Amino acid sequence: MNVYDVCVIGAGVVGSAIARELARYDVSIAVLERAEDVCCGTSKANSGIVHAGYDAIPGTNMARFNVEGARMMPEICKTLDVPYVQHGSFVLCFDKSSLPGLEKLLEQGKENGVSPLSIISGDEAREIEPCISPEVVAALYAPEAGIVDPFLLTAAYAENACVNGADFFFNTEVSSVTQKEDGYELTSSGETFYARSVINAAGVYADTFYNQSLGTEAKHIIPRRGSYVLLDRAATPVPTHTLFQLPTKYGKGILVAPTCHQNTIVGPTAIDIDDKEGVNTTAEELRDVLQKARLSVPELPLNMAITSFAGLRAHEEGHEFTLEETTENYVHLVGIESPGLTSSPALGIHIAQKVAEKLGAQKKQTFVEKRVGVPRFYELAKEDQLALLAKNPAYGTIVCRCEHVTQGEIEEALNRPVPPNTLDGVKRRLRAGMGRCQGGFCSPLVMEILAGKAHELEKVHKAGPKSSIVYGFTKEPLHHE
Ligand SMILES: Cc1cc2nc3c(=O)[nH]c(=O)nc-3n(C[C@H](O)[C@H](O)[C@H](O)COP(=O)(O)OP(=O)(O)OC[C@H]3O[C@@H](n4cnc5c(N)ncnc54)[C@H](O)[C@@H]3O)c2cc1C
Repeated sequence: MNVYDVCVIGAGVVGSAIARELARYDVSIAVLERAEDVCCGTSKANSGIVHAGYDAIPGTNMARFNVEGARMMPEICKTLDVPYVQHGSFVLCFDKSSLPGLEKLLEQGKENGVSPLSIISGDEAREIEPCISPEVVAALYAPEAGIVDPFLLTAAYAENACVNGADFFFNTEVSSVTQKEDGYELTSSGETFYARSVINAAGVYADTFYNQSLGTEAKHIIPRRGSYVLLDRAATPVPTHTLFQLPTKYGKGILVAPTCHQNTIVGPTAIDIDDKEGVNTTAEELRDVLQKARLSVPELPLNMAITSFAGLRAHEEGHEFTLEETTENYVHLVGIESPGLTSSPALGIHIAQKVAEKLGAQKKQTFVEKRVGVPRFYELAKEDQLALLAKNPAYGTIVCRCEHVTQGEIEEALNRPVPPNTLDGVKRRLRAGMGRCQGGFCSPLVMEILAGKAHELEKVHKAGPKSSIVYGFTKEPLHHE
């Protein structure tokens, strides 16, 4: 019997953050995820920006959790060993008539408690960030804005939750949640679960559970697609700060920003669609991204693009984070669009505290706060590399040449709590396949490692169970021990 105190639906950045915070208490936790791994929904396809908090309307949940989350992010990333860089951001203003828009953002930011925050001239902005367009007349400068690795943040929350007792169930799609006398019955594609409390963190599908619980159609999430182009690390000139655009006569702005791994990300668009799985990119959207990006950085080397991708914002009409207990101990997080990634540490604490309090749970003495990530062999000092090699010679075998990922790192990742089980899972945790060749060289090698000693290559998938790579053999495989 799968009986838990709490079931969390969804292992995105929000569900995983909540699970980690709940794991501080003496409650049993199950995280139920329809995909094959953590971070397979919106959390895997976003800008990775830790927003300062001037965008959200003062007094809203979005403003509160954005600012709180941004303040917590440096510390939580240190604790969980996740890449985070506080490099600052600019909102670029291209004509003097738009200055009131910039001033409004400044006022909003001040009201939300964002500091430091100031408006500087175009020349001052170019002094800090020389690649900015000569057309820029002024900029809102937020030196404490940052960037985070969204994949590793999600995986780290999940790993730490798991180390502290939470169970993760993948390929487990919850189809219904039924209230019983002393809790809830959750029917899933796999098994049935029982929980005293349920947390709906299902991203673009969160409206379904909310509506089911109230028997209404009150919430309606419109998937708002954002498409991106990613540039190679060698691209130059590129900015070292996040560059947003104040909406102009050309429409809503496009950002150009560095990632934690020295790529440059350009995007996203904002197109409302009907399909909650519609993460395809289109030539039209990508053209739009590239054209608008050049407004901020005219010399941006767009020929250095290595891939494109799209994510879906869980946009709800009120453009607000809905945090609501619809029935006793059934809590919903609906409309967690941007800045949901930034807000995740604060949302995790807030929801976990509320749920634990209602269940009468106490904090455990045994909670393990810290996580140490898989060592990045290439970035280690020589003596640390030699020590690792002595422990496991597989650290001496390079698997991904673009991102310098070794076999030892992949083996270590496979032995972790909440390990990857697909090519994409390895890619998101270790970057094997994220580089210039996009997995052209390393995919077969990563597949061999995933297939393990049994050499069952047919069982290795790119993403979920429907993404087979090898369907059969035309010759007897050559097994060499
Ligand atoms: C284009 C774009 C750019 C963004 N940029 C930023 C940014 O720079 N900074 C920022 O702070 N935020 C940003 N965001 C927002 C941020 O990415 C999201 O707010 C955040 O990832 C939401 O996390 P989540 O866990 O709620 O959703 P998800 O990551 O989508 O997780 C929900 C999970 O629930 C699972 N699920 C759904 N239904 C079921 C079911 N029936 N049973 C079991 N599991 C289920 C899904 O498979 C999924 O894994 C951006 C979003 C987009 C789309």
